This record gives sequence, structure tokens and C-alpha cells, in this order.
Amino acid sequence: MTLGLLLYGNWEMSFEHLVFHKAWVNGQWTESNSGKTFAVVDPASGHELARVPDLDAQDTRNAINVADQAFKSWKNQTAKERFQLLKNWHQLIIDNQPALAELMTMESGKPLTESMDEVLYGASFIEWFAEQGKRIDGDVIQTPSSDRRIITLKQPVGVCAAITPWNFPLAMITRKCAPALAVGCTVVIKPAEATPLTALALAKLAQDAGIPDGVVNVVTASHGKEVGEELTRNPIIKKISFTGSTPVGKLLMKQSADTVKKVSMELGGNAPFIVFDDADIDAAVQGAVTSKYRNTGQTCVCANRILVQEGVYEEFVTKFADAVSNLAVGPGTNPDVAIGPVINQAALNKIQGLVDDALNRGAKTLVGGTTHELGGNFFQPTVLAGVTSDMRVAKEEIFGPIAPVFTFKDDQEAIELANDTEFGLASYFYSNNLPRVWKVAEQLEYGMVGLNVGIIANEVAPFGGIKESGLGREGSKYGVDDYLELKYMCLGGL
Ligand code: NAP
Repeated sequence: MTLGLLLYGNWEMSFEHLVFHKAWVNGQWTESNSGKTFAVVDPASGHELARVPDLDAQDTRNAINVADQAFKSWKNQTAKERFQLLKNWHQLIIDNQPALAELMTMESGKPLTESMDEVLYGASFIEWFAEQGKRIDGDVIQTPSSDRRIITLKQPVGVCAAITPWNFPLAMITRKCAPALAVGCTVVIKPAEATPLTALALAKLAQDAGIPDGVVNVVTASHGKEVGEELTRNPIIKKISFTGSTPVGKLLMKQSADTVKKVSMELGGNAPFIVFDDADIDAAVQGAVTSKYRNTGQTCVCANRILVQEGVYEEFVTKFADAVSNLAVGPGTNPDVAIGPVINQAALNKIQGLVDDALNRGAKTLVGGTTHELGGNFFQPTVLAGVTSDMRVAKEEIFGPIAPVFTFKDDQEAIELANDTEFGLASYFYSNNLPRVWKVAEQLEYGMVGLNVGIIANEVAPFGGIKESGLGREGSKYGVDDYLELKYMCLGGL
């Protein structure tokens, strides 16, 4: 396969064997019926990397029908057989870690070390759910009448749709597909327009692992809307799992209502990162840098608002600004880089608009504040001080390397500021006062709370939000629930 890999001069690439230029349906490389294709672009250079087929509603319907056929036999394999195939898939992903990471960095701009981490993180869901799949048990329930017995069964829901974003091109797919496959469902994946190549590589590795054709299908498309309509309105699809923005999530929920599908929604966030006056300030600075600037500030759980108690404000802000000014910016393919490009020009314009709005309303720039001298989609890691609740950075998901810093007086004000948003995904705070830790954690209206830690996601913990950040949980022992139907059987006449 050829790709515009040539663009990387002396960088040695190892991923050509994982670059595919077609959609993946029924275990075969597939063109779009229309013959249309779209470009996959490197956000660091702006160069076209590849073209992939631009599938439409009819193509999507075909993939759904294929997944429906495959479901008839996949659901009847034993959990142990599925376990073994998923373990094979997990191992192939681990074996291909550098190649997958490079591919991901090329199409998403994510710094290479983070892409390496994402491969392991994404693979961990496959291993975890392979194991969990063997432990899906029903119950025998105490009967209210002696001539009856009450039994429950858990069965796979059927064909599932996974619609995923570009910011975690691998892990958002495995976090959905691993539980689905482990319990006997089949999947149709619609990856983001920006990052279809990682999804296609994953699907091919699934086939290499022995997972039967039709169980995993990847529908590449440049406009989510048409494909999304088919995935949400087609009655064969029994469950939609979506990770992306809150407005699109709301639309998909509405569209899914007519066929009463199960829905899981992993949506946007506006995470508070609170530093109390009894915190270990150096640890808080480190945690804030990691939480805020991971993936160039483009994760749903990135610290969006940094709230610092008045007594430690000067110390925290001085150390934080110093740490941020030392972050290296450049193409993600450079292993020393901490901050890559943002995903595209629209994202760059949006974050510049957020910074300008804050400065116009009285905030001050401590670090950065504008586009980077590298040009293109590079933005300077930025710290804004003197930020207030009326500014757009306080209300909107920033999704870029901008850290707005606020101050607060006491615990009550911190909690009110933190909860003053329609979002409820991740939150963080630093404190060494145990009663305070307990009380604040209870009052934060968020699905996840990081206590003295800036990174909280892993395969064993339930990931998800409340309020307008979503529905359902991914990962952990709870992550299979949304892919199962609970059936109750009443055996009478005994
Ligand atoms: P997005 O615009 O909502 O897109 C996400 C996915 O939905 C993409 O595959 C996109 O396809 C597709 N899509 C867009 N419009 C659609 C429609 N009308 N019907 C069906 N599908 C549609 O979000 P994004 O910009 O890619 O990702 C960033 C967002 O994801 C942020 O809000 C972030 O917080 C959220 N996120 C949440 C989590 C979580 O776990 N809660 C994790 C990661 C990201 P196209 O690419 O083709 O438009």
C-alpha cells in the first residue's frame, strides 16, 4: 500500500503494513458505491496522507446487514471461544504497538509518546473484557410461590453501532467494541473523518486474530450525518455507543428514539481542577500540567478550569506558568515533543477566539496566547490569569492547550464554581485534608473525581459522565451492562 509517507524525510516508519485505503465490511476491503473518496490529512504538515472511501447510507445499510448475519453465529460461540479470539487480538495490538502509535500520530497529530500509551490503554480494554465475558452470569431468584422457579439470563443485545472521535482514534473504538464482542454482539464502527486509518488497522488485526468476518466492520465517511442517520434509524441496530460532542450526542439520542435503541453517550466536559491551600503545590502543578496539556489539551477529561485558593494562588501560578513555558511544541512524530498541532484550522480559530474573548474581558496572558511560530495548526501552550465566570473559557469546552486560572476564597465557593456548568464528566482536586477530601468529593456533580491525581482513566474503572456529559459507563465490570439484555424466565407447574 502507498501513502504519503514520503513526507517525513529521515523519519523511519514501521507502519506501512498497517495502512489500508478501503472501508472494511465482511472481512473485505470495500469501496463506496458512489466511488467517492475523501482525504486523510496530517494535522502537523497539512499534507494528504491517504484517501479512503466515502460511504453513504446505502453502504452503511450493507454493513449493518453483514453484521446482522454475523451475529447469528457469533452469539452462539462460547464465551471461552470469544475470549481466546479477543486475547489474540489484544496480543496483535501489543505486538504492533510502535506501528499503530506512529499511524495514530500521523493522522491525529498526537505526540508519539502519548500514542504509544494509547495503544496500551486501548488494548487493555480488550484484555479486560475478554476476561469479563466469561463471567456474564444469570441468577436463580428465590420464588414467591412453591410451584414456580425464577431464572434470569443475560444475552447480547445484537448489532451495535460505535461512532467515535478523532482524539483517541484507537481507545474509543476498543472501549466500545471489546465489551460488545466479548458478550456476543457484532459491530459497525464509524470512525471520525480525521482518523479512519487507525480504525482500519485495528479491524484488520481483528481478522488476523481469527475474529470471524462480519463481526467487526468499519464504515469510513466524511460526513457523519448521513451515516449517523442510518445507524440510528435502522431497526437492526439495537445499541448506539457514541463518544463525541454533546450537541451531536443529543441529536443521535433523538434519532434513536423511534426505534427505542439502547444508547451510551460519552460526551463533552468542562473539568474543574481545584487546588486547595493545604495541597502539595508541586504535585498540583505537575497534575495540572498533565491533565491540561495531554493530547495538546484535546481530551474530554482535560482540566478546563483551574481554580486556586487565594492563599496559594501566587505560588501555584508562578510554578505552573514556569512548567508550561518549558513544554516543547512540534510535530508529534518528534519523540521530544509534548505539545503537537491541534486537529485542524477550525479548532485553531476556535481557541484563538476563546483567548481573545478572555483578554478583551480583562484576563491576562502569563504564557503563550497566540499561534505558534511553527505556523499551521500549532498554538502556543497558554496560561491565562484573572479569569472570571463570564468569559467563554469558563463555560465552553476549550479543547486546546489553554489553561484559564481562577481564584476562590473557601470550599463553598470552589464547589459552586466547579458545579456551575451543564457538564459533569471529570473533576480533580488537590488537598491533604481528609475530611475536606471526603466532603468536596461528595459535593462535586461529576461522574469522575481525581483526588491528588491528574490522570484517572484505566480499564478497570467506570468511565463516564452525568448531566449533559453523558449516559452509561465504559470500562470496569459495569462496562458490559449496556451490551446485554436481561431476560427473566418464570418456570411454572412444578
Ligand atoms: P464530534 O464532532 O461530535 O464527532 C464525533 C463523531 O461523531 C465523529 O465520528 C463524527 O464524524 C461523528 N458525527 C458528527 N456529526 C454527526 C452526526 N450528525 N451524526 C452522526 N455522527 C456524527 O466530536 P469530535 O470533535 O470528533 O470529538 C471531540 C468531542 O468528543 C469533545 O466534545 C470531547 O469532549 C468528546 N469526547 C468525549 C469523550 C468521553 O469519553 N466522554 C472522549 C473523547 C472525546 P465526522 O468526524 O465525520 O464529523
